[in-house]
Amino acid sequence: MKGVNHQNMNGTNKFLLLKMIATQGPISRISLSEKTGLSKMTVTALVNEYIEKGIVYECGLSQNQGSSGRRPILLDIVADSQLTLGVNIGRDNVRAGIIDLRGNVLVSNNFAMGHINNADDFMKALFVLCDSILKTSGSPKIWGIGVSTIGPISESKGVIYSPPAFYGIHDVPIVEKFKERYHLPVYLAEDTKVSALTEMYLGNAQNYDHFFFVDIKPGVGGAMIVDRKLYGGASGMAGSFGHYIVEPDGIPCECGQKGCLERYCSTRAILRWAKDNGADPSLTWLSFLDKVAGGDEICLKAVKRLCHYLAIGVTNIIAFFDPQCIFIGGDLWTIQDMVVEGVRNGVMNHLWASDVRPKIDILASRFLNNADFIGTAALVMENNLRA
Ligand SMILES: [Zn+2]
Repeated sequence: MKGVNHQNMNGTNKFLLLKMIATQGPISRISLSEKTGLSKMTVTALVNEYIEKGIVYECGLSQNQGSSGRRPILLDIVADSQLTLGVNIGRDNVRAGIIDLRGNVLVSNNFAMGHINNADDFMKALFVLCDSILKTSGSPKIWGIGVSTIGPISESKGVIYSPPAFYGIHDVPIVEKFKERYHLPVYLAEDTKVSALTEMYLGNAQNYDHFFFVDIKPGVGGAMIVDRKLYGGASGMAGSFGHYIVEPDGIPCECGQKGCLERYCSTRAILRWAKDNGADPSLTWLSFLDKVAGGDEICLKAVKRLCHYLAIGVTNIIAFFDPQCIFIGGDLWTIQDMVVEGVRNGVMNHLWASDVRPKIDILASRFLNNADFIGTAALVMENNLRA
């Protein structure tokens, strides 16, 4: 048993260790040993290997003294030691760029959707975009390609199925096509799941092992991180928060149910409600945000209603998942803090077992609208290290 699994164990330990440095660095060898449960000798040997490869470096001394009385040396990852070609496919826009391990975008470009209506032409446009980025950046050494996209998708088959209102484009075998062209590892995930990874690697989730990410966009998404790993469920659809029922016999949803959260809390649903209740029919999401800032009564009521329904959904998540934290992000921009505060108040009113439960944090995502793009670097890291 020991002999058979030695190589796997070594690979798992390496993954654990580098992920810990990436998500919690700067960090000392002793803290790495405590947090991963690996022996000090194993940590030292693996860290030396990473330093030799130029992926990890010694970045200074800890402020705190160790048990020996000395201040331990801190380690961090070398941001540009591994680069990702990241692609983010949205309903209106496609972005691509070169992104380093700290989420810095070194070069990027995009094209608007709307003039392409089949999978072949879509792939051709994507290749033009990615080729030009690789060329202008001087053909950097890329260790993988990460693709985040609107769904539905099959992660295992590497296919984007048929996103609603996606100009007739469907069944795009994007992973296979990218592999054929660039001969690199390629990973595909839904945008919300990538945003959750971004929060873990680059954002405010460094201290949470179990959290839920709520993504408020023209649709509503959710993603579960369990033991610092994305949890996909049997078919990769776990965390489909938009289709939680928050109003029995409520507004019909495209999915066939009635009263789904997405019908009350997506940016589209919020706008629709505001217009149905007296707001200007030409109201856009940005003008809505502007009106909220100006104290417009109808728009403020729309935000209050959003918080009411979102708090019901979040309370349900807490009851079944018991997370340490809920992150709220997406396209909320200037109302993000207001929504977080409203949901926090709503949840605390409903919360079950609040007297015995450890405190649950409800926080704003650190990223305004690019978590699903820069997080493609985290997606590649999460998979390449495990491979
Ligand atoms: Zn639904």
